Amino acid sequence: MNSWYPLLAVLAASLVCAYLRTGLRTWTFAGFAALFGAAWLAGASWPAIAITTAVFGALTLPLNLPDFRRRKITAPLLTMYQKITPQISDTERTALEAGTVGFEGELFSGKPNWKKLLGEPAAQLSVEEQAFLDGPCEEVCHMANEWQITHELADLTPEIWEFIKKKKFFGMIIPKEYGGLEFSALAQSAVLQKLMGVSGSLSSTVGVPNSLGPGELLLHYGTKEQRDYYLPRLADGREVPCFALTGPTAGSDATSIPDYGIVCKGEWQGGNVLGVRLTFDKRYITLAPVATLIGLAFQMHDPDHLLGDKEHIGITLALIPRDTKGLEIGRRHFPLNAAFQNGPVRGNDIFVPLSQLIGGEAMAGQGWRMLVECLSVGRAITLPSNASGGVRMGAIATGAYARMRKQFGMAIGRFEGIEEALARIGGYTYAITALSRATASAVDRGEKPAVTSAIAKYHCTELAREVAKDIMDVHGGKAVQLGPNNYAGRGWQTAPIAITVEGANIMTRSLMIFGQGAIRCHPHVLKEMQAAQIPDYATRLRAFDRELFAHIGFAFSNAARSFVLGLVNARIGAAPGDKYTRRFYRKLNRYAANLALVADTSMLLLGGKLKFKEKISARLGDVLSNLYIASAMLKRYEDQGRPIADQPLLAWAFHDCAFRMQTALDGVLRNFPIRPAAWLLRALVFPIGRREAPPSDRLGRRVAAILCAPGEARDRLAEWAYLTPSANNPVGRMNALLPDVIAAEPVERKFAKAQKSGAIKSLDAAAQLAEAEQIGAITAEERKLLERVRAATMEFIDVDDFDPAELPAAMPRAKPGLRSVA
Ligand SMILES: Cc1cc2nc3c(=O)[nH]c(=O)nc-3n(C[C@H](O)[C@H](O)[C@H](O)COP(=O)(O)OP(=O)(O)OC[C@H]3O[C@@H](n4cnc5c(N)ncnc54)[C@H](O)[C@@H]3O)c2cc1C
Repeated sequence: MNSWYPLLAVLAASLVCAYLRTGLRTWTFAGFAALFGAAWLAGASWPAIAITTAVFGALTLPLNLPDFRRRKITAPLLTMYQKITPQISDTERTALEAGTVGFEGELFSGKPNWKKLLGEPAAQLSVEEQAFLDGPCEEVCHMANEWQITHELADLTPEIWEFIKKKKFFGMIIPKEYGGLEFSALAQSAVLQKLMGVSGSLSSTVGVPNSLGPGELLLHYGTKEQRDYYLPRLADGREVPCFALTGPTAGSDATSIPDYGIVCKGEWQGGNVLGVRLTFDKRYITLAPVATLIGLAFQMHDPDHLLGDKEHIGITLALIPRDTKGLEIGRRHFPLNAAFQNGPVRGNDIFVPLSQLIGGEAMAGQGWRMLVECLSVGRAITLPSNASGGVRMGAIATGAYARMRKQFGMAIGRFEGIEEALARIGGYTYAITALSRATASAVDRGEKPAVTSAIAKYHCTELAREVAKDIMDVHGGKAVQLGPNNYAGRGWQTAPIAITVEGANIMTRSLMIFGQGAIRCHPHVLKEMQAAQIPDYATRLRAFDRELFAHIGFAFSNAARSFVLGLVNARIGAAPGDKYTRRFYRKLNRYAANLALVADTSMLLLGGKLKFKEKISARLGDVLSNLYIASAMLKRYEDQGRPIADQPLLAWAFHDCAFRMQTALDGVLRNFPIRPAAWLLRALVFPIGRREAPPSDRLGRRVAAILCAPGEARDRLAEWAYLTPSANNPVGRMNALLPDVIAAEPVERKFAKAQKSGAIKSLDAAAQLAEAEQIGAITAEERKLLERVRAATMEFIDVDDFDPAELPAAMPRAKPGLRSVA
């Protein structure tokens, strides 16, 4: 007998069991059967069969005897685990335990259950929400003139302020019982997207009160008195809120805020009550200059033990009315020419009673937990929606412009260089809008998507910045010259704001996405940590044993699945979808297994050091993010009834995601500090090399074509965009002209032919058309069409020019250094 046969048979059986994720017992039986069968078929003698089977049994049976396994294997491993696992600070624990895990958990499992994703009902707007979008939202878009807002007033007009308060735009998250609109997350997203299409300043102004701030915090933690008093006032705009966390020395590291409040007695509304004396210096606070209610985060101290034993109570949140004595408020920052209100807030020794703490005295010291618990919901909606609204409008505008702007005798959209940029605009718009819809839908399902809100915030804003760059490049000088006709320049100018706020992007990518995702989404890591902390030893050992062995099986399975799916380039395996998309799901199965394998190995071998290996962590986060983005796009494609017209957009964006995942995994393996482990991982992850390629030029051409002509895929891309051809909306007007521009193209060709033949002698453009009609090159109808289209097109090719006196901003100049004091 060839002595290798039984071993090979056991290995083959193990590979199949690991691929299929069978349990330990099934694997043991399969191993026995394979061993026995191979030895028997190879003609081994009975003593030889007995010896090999006994060896196999000696190795595997102890694993199947729970008591023995726990005492002899798990107990020492638990001791070791407790020694090497890094201590998690309270702050980190709060962040890790906040929020819920949705489909991202499936992606981290290495074997996603697609039924779970595809079985979720498609999110839809209610009749009331749609009516709001078509009514007040459309109306305010009609009122907004971005040039007037950003350049002339550096503010929304008084009419717009009045209108958005009256129509309760600030109360979208507030329940109806308090007079709010109580909109779904999807509806909030749709409103912000629509507003963003006309004015970033308007959408930011509306976004902030509906995101993390007094409204959200009061809803979750406010006392009854606070909710009853403030929520109706916030809903109808009597109160304009802001939330002040950031200060000069505490930006990304928000828990390091030096701002403090000392518990003491003080004067409040004529009485002497217990409260806090606050000293703080906050900056960058959106809406602060006009806010009437300031949410404030500070460190609370009780040196005189007026509340209890604790001296340092911790981060606490308070509500400071604008007219509080000593509050310094009203000055403005000027964030990259955007006109939404943003500025500093300061206070020196100002007093508020304990009843102004959000949640009252009971919630003192709970501020960080409150913020982290609420952060994910706002982060899942506001910035992803703004990014979506911006790129939707940009895609429509750029496609139309590329069709009407001609150079070298051709529409610029036909040049391959422009096609490349248009393909990125179309593909990323598809990805951003799918991602933003996915996180809003998760919120509507009751999730607090801690990990995916970070993914959405990072990737929507990063990709939107890419789109903004391409929009600028396609428009050339037209987008550079600011003025009422420039619909692109402000988007480009302000793109870095979205990158910076709600978790600056570099930190979000390097520290948060994978850092949180690895622990929150991993099927075993958090459970192992929790098991290791159970006080009772027997229970601890049992729980840890269960998780540990499930984890080991999980790791083997991911290794097997990575290798097998890599070997066949993800061409096999059960997957949902249609003929067009099945291959995409299979690729995601492969990359999910890769992520789970590489993440597990990184955590095992780098342990606590992984936290500081930000470049490794960031790349693993990229794999998780792109898995999620691709899943969101496939879900959208399914929800919209698998529209064939959208396939180029889906395919372009999908291949881009797949290529990014491959690049990220390759980057991890190239830079993994323990080289032998990296070599082994490479053999498992890329057994036949890197086969992913970026989207092809042909596919890019099809995407570009979608943007440049009216059609159902383009219409879906423009969902919720404000495309009414009103005076304040050049994009709407340009879009309305597009069918005529296309109808005029064959006429232009006929005219050009006549001109080339020398039959047209005039130099004047209008006279040339008349001549073309006279010689029968074009009909009278066609001449009219050309005249109309040429004249209308010029409106969009023209840029603004100004009398020099018009250019200085109309804002009255404040004296340097003057601060208004309420
Ligand atoms: C227009 C605007 C509006 C804002 N609105 C508000 C508001 O309403 N309320 C409020 O409280 N705050 C607000 N902010 C503050 C915003 O949340 C902070 O700007 C943000 O938290 C980053 O802080 P920072 O600007 O001080 O940058 P820093 O923290 O100094 O960061 C600088 C760079 O270092 C990176 N970095 C930091 N730590 C790490 C790390 N561990 N690993 C890798 N990279 C890291 C960051 O990603 C960033 O790129 C606003 C800011 C702006 C610009």
